[in-house]
Amino acid sequence: MTEQYQHRARKRFGQNFLHDAGVIDRILRSIHAKPGEHLLEIGPGQGALTEGLLDSGAQLDVVELDKDLVPILNQQFAGKDNFRLHQGDALKFDFTSLGAEPATLRVVGNLPYNISTPLIFHLLHNAHLIRDMHFMLQKEVVERMAAGPGGGDWGRLSIMVQYHCRVEHLFNVGPGAFNPPPKVDSAIVRLVPHTTLPHPAKDHRLLERVVREAFNQRRKTLRNTLKALLPNEAIEAAGVDGSLRPEQLDLAAFVRLADQLAERSDAL
Ligand code: SAM
Repeated sequence: MTEQYQHRARKRFGQNFLHDAGVIDRILRSIHAKPGEHLLEIGPGQGALTEGLLDSGAQLDVVELDKDLVPILNQQFAGKDNFRLHQGDALKFDFTSLGAEPATLRVVGNLPYNISTPLIFHLLHNAHLIRDMHFMLQKEVVERMAAGPGGGDWGRLSIMVQYHCRVEHLFNVGPGAFNPPPKVDSAIVRLVPHTTLPHPAKDHRLLERVVREAFNQRRKTLRNTLKALLPNEAIEAAGVDGSLRPEQLDLAAFVRLADQLAERSDAL
């Protein structure tokens, strides 16, 4: 790399660049990209994962926010036919612009941890386009995604991710694999959108609303936290005991509550 393209990691862009070849290889093997596939990498940075992804022969689109990384990425990869760079914010990226057939897009990335939750929600709204996702995230976030009901990790993220996807916590990565090292442990997660939703809600936006309200005050009973949305009869009609706290309910129960809200919204 020439002197002019030396890049200093920027905290505000969540830049922790992977440099451990063993970890990079393990991630690439988990993704196992093949020719004919269409991948989207979010936050390619200085190309730690990009190179191996391109070598697979798959079509690779990358979205990078930091303008200063564009010449570094172009210098390395612009000559490859299967590489397409989009400079911009992944949170605002229109995934439909890639022209991918439904359920084909493979999304990957060592994500900037400061925006990982809104980014996952943005991707979930486009779940119909996606075949699978492989992300490096803060380990604690992966634990919340993979959690089951009954514990402190079960919440809005677990429920909305599991509504759309099967979740696999693949392996953990320590801070030493990155430069600069983050202050937290990381993990690789695989998310596979369901071909048929196991618990389809009448309106998934109402599910998001019920879950958000319920977990706003997770120590309170559902009867209390959902007061503004659903009267106690509606909670009971969903087969839910209003004296429970939100973390005691499974996904199916939240969907029944959202469907009660849908019925009531229809009636208004
Ligand atoms: N993939 C590289 C690696 O593994 O070394 C870089 C990972 S670094 C944790 C996150 C990358 O996401 C950085 O390159 C950063 O500039 C980029 N980024 C941050 N916010 C972004 C956003 N909103 N949209 C797209 N890229 C973003």
